Amino acid sequence: MKETRTIIDALDELAPETLVVWDKTYVWHPFTPMKQYMAGDPVIIRRGRGVKLEDIHGNWYYDGTASIWLNVHGHNVPELNAAIEAQLRRVAHATMLGQANVPAVALAKRLIDVAPKGLQRVFYSDSGATAVEIALKMAVQFWANQGRRTKRYVLGFLNNYHGDTLGAVGVAPDPLFHWPFLDLLPGHPRVPYPYPHDRLTESLEAVEDVLRTRRDELAAVIVEPVEGAGGILPAPPGFLRELRALCDRYDVLLIVDEVATGFGRTGRLFACEADGVTPDLLCLGKGLTGGYLPLAATLTTERVFEAFLGEVEERKTFFHGHSYTGNPLGCAVALASLELLLELLPALPAKVERIRAGLAPLADHPFVAEVRQAGFMVGIEIVADRATRTPFPYGAQVGFIVARHAWRRGMLVRPIGSVLIFMPPLAATETELDEMTAILRASFEDALPELESLAQQIRQQA
Ligand SMILES: *Cc1c(COP(=O)(O)O)cnc(C)c1O
Repeated sequence: MKETRTIIDALDELAPETLVVWDKTYVWHPFTPMKQYMAGDPVIIRRGRGVKLEDIHGNWYYDGTASIWLNVHGHNVPELNAAIEAQLRRVAHATMLGQANVPAVALAKRLIDVAPKGLQRVFYSDSGATAVEIALKMAVQFWANQGRRTKRYVLGFLNNYHGDTLGAVGVAPDPLFHWPFLDLLPGHPRVPYPYPHDRLTESLEAVEDVLRTRRDELAAVIVEPVEGAGGILPAPPGFLRELRALCDRYDVLLIVDEVATGFGRTGRLFACEADGVTPDLLCLGKGLTGGYLPLAATLTTERVFEAFLGEVEERKTFFHGHSYTGNPLGCAVALASLELLLELLPALPAKVERIRAGLAPLADHPFVAEVRQAGFMVGIEIVADRATRTPFPYGAQVGFIVARHAWRRGMLVRPIGSVLIFMPPLAATETELDEMTAILRASFEDALPELESLAQQIRQQA
């Protein structure tokens, strides 16, 4: 069969300089200070294979962020490509409003097979933030449908992150990022997250204080099992179990946001499993499609679901949806990705230890305060002074100093503030993981002179 030349094949002939100009002229990038971006040399990706990405100049990089925390099996994976192609020959999209499609039905069944016991219903959307919005709205309406209109606040944890839509920002406002919007938010209560781990009791007491005094106003508690965007801070063992017990005692729903931790990221299929906990609402995204297509899901129990059943005029229906909810291509690749992941799971513990061993020497680096790891999630905290834990000023962008050395050495990584984040795809082999951690170690060495001179400036100003 003769291959037809497509509009995408023609893009291969565009000169790199043209793409750079178009990027800087027409595109506005997420979470990116654009003034600085436009002054720099952008990385524009043309293709991917395995755990590597190639830019338009022909440079290959390790995908050290798993394309911002979502890639599971690498890029251009034959099984995943085949699932999308097979579905594409059937239908690319059809609405889920009042009807269904085959892959969405099959994936819901499969997700419930593997999810924490007791979850029974899958509500699709297309990003982690929407999975969170849906969980928040379901929690509030769950009580409203039972005539309990005052239960409409959601208790969250300081420095947790739940996405960038306003509802999600409302339960996790960040003064640095969200300052223009703070006045628009409903003022949900928040308490400290249990990190370091000796703060577990303090954190749980703060939770219980709010639950005890405001149980009639609270619809739910929302939590990340590992504080991800907050800098990779894993909660101590037992925390989710205690939280589950408190929510039950005070009649409040528990929402666990596993958008980052789900699908093997912590070394288990879901982080909830470590504590044997079933939330009332579970938010999934990122790794759900192996990092291929935008698809998210909010899973809930039959108890929550049944509160939405009634006569039409009772208005108990959950009136929420998105145009691409339950997209068949996304569901098809999610099905294929999940099967590959179940085969991969037994290999994960050894890989997690390989990462740990590769990064252990960084604990001695003069500007590293802590190397934190939860499975395949790593945060390396950079400070100006290890003894006092004095941070570098935000404007110094020290994370990017190290990240740029890593890019030059052939690995894409991205910091959050002064924490360098390393999140390799789960399918990376032990040899590839060794090469990636070696690049990180070397990049921290490369950055020493710059960090040293910045630290000196700080000492002189003090
Ligand atoms: C990334 C993330 C989100 C938001 O997901 P998007 O797909 O970027 O909207 C929500 N919660 C957590 C824990 C995340 O890491």
